[in-house]
Amino acid sequence: MSSPRTVDEHRAVVAALLDPMPAEDVPVVHARGRVLAADVVAGVALPSFDNSAMDGYAVRAADCTDAPVELPVEADIPAGRTDVPPLRPGTAHRIMTGALVPPGADAVVPVEQTDGGLDRVRVSVAPAPGAHVRRAGEDVREGDVVLRAGTVLGAPQIGVAAAVGRETLPVRRRPRVLVLSTGSELVAPGRPLRPGQIYESNGPMLAAAVEDAGGCAELLRFVPDDVEQFLGRLRERVSDAPVDLLLTSGGVSAGAYEVVKDAFRERGVEFVKVAMQPGGPQGAGRVDELGGIGVVTLPGNPVSSHVSFEVFVRPALRSALGHPHPERPVVTATLGERWRSPAGRRQFRRGVLDASNGTVREVGGPASHLLGSLARAECLVVVPEDVTELSEGSAVETWLLDG
Ligand code: AMP
Ligand code: MG
Repeated sequence: MSSPRTVDEHRAVVAALLDPMPAEDVPVVHARGRVLAADVVAGVALPSFDNSAMDGYAVRAADCTDAPVELPVEADIPAGRTDVPPLRPGTAHRIMTGALVPPGADAVVPVEQTDGGLDRVRVSVAPAPGAHVRRAGEDVREGDVVLRAGTVLGAPQIGVAAAVGRETLPVRRRPRVLVLSTGSELVAPGRPLRPGQIYESNGPMLAAAVEDAGGCAELLRFVPDDVEQFLGRLRERVSDAPVDLLLTSGGVSAGAYEVVKDAFRERGVEFVKVAMQPGGPQGAGRVDELGGIGVVTLPGNPVSSHVSFEVFVRPALRSALGHPHPERPVVTATLGERWRSPAGRRQFRRGVLDASNGTVREVGGPASHLLGSLARAECLVVVPEDVTELSEGSAVETWLLDG
C-alpha cells in the first residue's frame, strides 16, 4: 500500500461513483423530504380572489363614515359561494372568512363591531377602505416562482405547492443503496448469542443513515467471511433490479479473512488507507461483474463505519440529489477539555455540545468500537491532520449530527 490517501481525495473518489439523480414526478402528498428537481411556478395567484379576512359584513367604507349606521343586508356569502351578487351602494352583505368580497364592496366590518343583524345590520365602527380584505395576489402572483429547484420539501413547501394547484411535483429520484454486512461472528438480533458472536448492527445503522441522507436503502441479509457467499448474495440481487450504490461493512483491514477485500481486490475496487481516524481502511470503485455498480467498502468497527458514512457517503448521496447543503451544518465550538490527537490523520471525535456556552466535550473516547457512546453523541469534532494537541478553550470545527 502506498502513502495514505487524504480524506478529501477519498471524498472525491466516492462522490464520482454517483451520477446526479434523474427527476421523477411524485404526488405532492408523497413529496415530503424529497429534493425538488425544477422550479415550481404559481398557476394561480394567492389569494386568487379578493376575500374576507373576517366573519362580518361587506360594505362600502364610504357608507359607514357616520357610524353608527344601519344598512339593509341583501345577501349572505358563505365561503365557497361562487355566484356572489354585486353590492349596491347603501347596503351590506353578510360575509364569512375566505368568501369572495362582492364587487362594489371595499371593506369588511367584523361581526363584533355590529349587532349581527340578518335583515338589517347596525355598524358601530367605521371601517377604513380596504379593512379586512385580503387582496388577490398579495402573497403570490400568478407566474411567480414559489419554490426553487433544489428546495427540500417540508410541510410549508408542500402546502404552497398544493395551494397553487399542483397535484404532482418533479423531484430527484432517491438513490437506491444496497447495504451488506460481512462477518462470521455476526448474528441477527433476536437470536441467542454464543461466546465469540455479536449482533449485527452495522447493517441496520447504515440503512438508517442512507434513508436519513435521502436515499432508499435495501438491507441484504449479512454474510459470513466467505468470498463465494459474499459474491453470491450480490450476484443474486444485482441481476434483479438496478442499484445506484453498494455499501459493504467489514472485511477490509489488514488481517486474514478480509472477505470484501479478497472478493473485490481483483474486481475493480481500490483498497486504500485514508489519513483519518476512525475509518483508516477504505475502498471504493466499480465492479463490472456486478453490472458496473459503484461500491464503497466501509470498515467493520461500528464507529468507523458510521463516521466513514458521514464523511464520504452522506455528502455524495446528497450531492447526487441536488441537495443545496450536502454537508452537515458546521459550527465553531469551544473545546471544554484538553485533547491529544495523532499526527498525520484527521480525527473525527464524537462530542456533546453544551448549547448554553458553545462548549464541546468528548463522549466516550476516541476508540472505534464505542457504539454506546456514539449513540449519545450530538456532533463530530474535527481535529486536523497537523494538530497533535488541543488545549481547553480551543476553537474546534464541529459537525452537528441532527441538523
Ligand atoms: P472487520 O472490519 O470485519 O475486521 O471488523 C472490525 C470489528 O467490527 C470487529 O470487532 C467486528 O466484529 C466488528 N463488526 C464488523 N462488522 C460488524 C457489524 N455488521 N455489526 C457489528 N459489528 C461489526
Ligand atoms: Mg469482519
